[in-house]
Amino acid sequence: MFWDKEIETLDRGSLERLQLGRLRETIEHVAAHVPFYQHKLAEAGVEATDIRSLDDLRRLPFTTNADLRATYPRGLVATPPGELLRLHTSSGTTGKPKALFFSRGDVDNAAELIARAMTMAGVTTDDVFQNMMTYGLFTGALVMHYGAEKVGCLVIPAGPGNSERQLLLMQDFRSTVVHVTPSYALYFAGYLESKGIDPRRDLALRKAFVGAEPYTEESRGKIEKALGVEVYNSYGLSEMNGPGVAFECPHQSGMHLWEDHFIAEVVDPQTGEPVPEGECGELVLTTLCREAMPILRYRTRDITALVPGTCACGRSHRRLARITGRTDDVLVVRGVNIYPQQIEQVLMGLPQVGRNYLIVLDGLDEMTVKVELAGSGFDGRIEHVVRLQSEIVSRLRAEILTKPKVELVPEGSLPVSEGKAKRVIDNRKL
Ligand code: ADP
Ligand code: ZN
Repeated sequence: MFWDKEIETLDRGSLERLQLGRLRETIEHVAAHVPFYQHKLAEAGVEATDIRSLDDLRRLPFTTNADLRATYPRGLVATPPGELLRLHTSSGTTGKPKALFFSRGDVDNAAELIARAMTMAGVTTDDVFQNMMTYGLFTGALVMHYGAEKVGCLVIPAGPGNSERQLLLMQDFRSTVVHVTPSYALYFAGYLESKGIDPRRDLALRKAFVGAEPYTEESRGKIEKALGVEVYNSYGLSEMNGPGVAFECPHQSGMHLWEDHFIAEVVDPQTGEPVPEGECGELVLTTLCREAMPILRYRTRDITALVPGTCACGRSHRRLARITGRTDDVLVVRGVNIYPQQIEQVLMGLPQVGRNYLIVLDGLDEMTVKVELAGSGFDGRIEHVVRLQSEIVSRLRAEILTKPKVELVPEGSLPVSEGKAKRVIDNRKL
């Protein structure tokens, strides 16, 4: 199903011509109104008229996370104050927040991209959409909310947490679609199990948009099984409107990135040079339609690859592979680079493992992985626990090339956060 078939299936040549025109307009817009970009562009010696092909994008300077913080609160605003309609901040936990402004056009465009993504996953006016993301300054819930209203489904602004109320809403209003973080989805699945609820028998759920934090294919499988839903991977970041940047279609082989609104590059995080298609690197995004706060070549720090080839759904917009983490997520333990997702992949592939885990770093360089056991389907006999523990240690060692301690704990005993999961506690005194 298409929301806007013409644009979603536009041939590559026309799509790239559209991108080039919009890129030039964006450069003109920031060069006229944003002193930060006036300096940056002058330094790089580029003007809008120098951009003759999409390859010339590489002549433009990068914008970083530090630039957004340094220009906080209004330094990147490109429209007069009277045209600003909404303020969001990023959910970042450290330092100053990043302030993101939307004009009326930006609010509409963000909703439009969500409407495309939801329709692509088969959501219609007959659906009941329970939005289990955090409302407020965070973009996650509100942007999706506006998009779902545009599609015309019944929207329940549930917000996160309070599993008892979530369940009541699902039962009373027969919710069919949810938007949720992977960590809360897994936690909620455990809650349903503890209440003896079988989602396939007792609830009407059929689809879940899952994103806002990284998760593995193994976790997707667990969520699909436990909630009886199809899980659609959903990617976005506040700097680029929030959710709606790239979503999966029913083929679930990468997330279509809406290229009429963003230009994507994947670069080597060290050199900033492009990596070949299909190879992993850091995603760099340029906005093409943003009015209030256009951003050129934003270093997202998210690690992904552009999926080669075209998708069987007929959409021409290129696909991003699952985001495996952020360049700044990497843990260096005993000189080895480890991504939390490598650990999750090992754990969630084991049926005896439950739904939550925590990585604790202590002392000089000690890593302990705390792992919840599955509540059902595992008898908990001591010899089985011991065998499982040593199996996890050896699988982790093969994956991350260092031997962690593994502690098995009962289901539901590790902390759960309402928003994004905190997977790593680093108490090292290095
Ligand atoms: P913050 O940067 O403070 O976390 P955001 O709320 O804007 O603020 O979160 C955006 C980030 O969330 C992305 O840059 C990415 O790291 C992560 N993210 C969002 N969706 C996904 C997804 N589907 N898979 C992996 N990571 C995701
Ligand atoms: Zn597709």
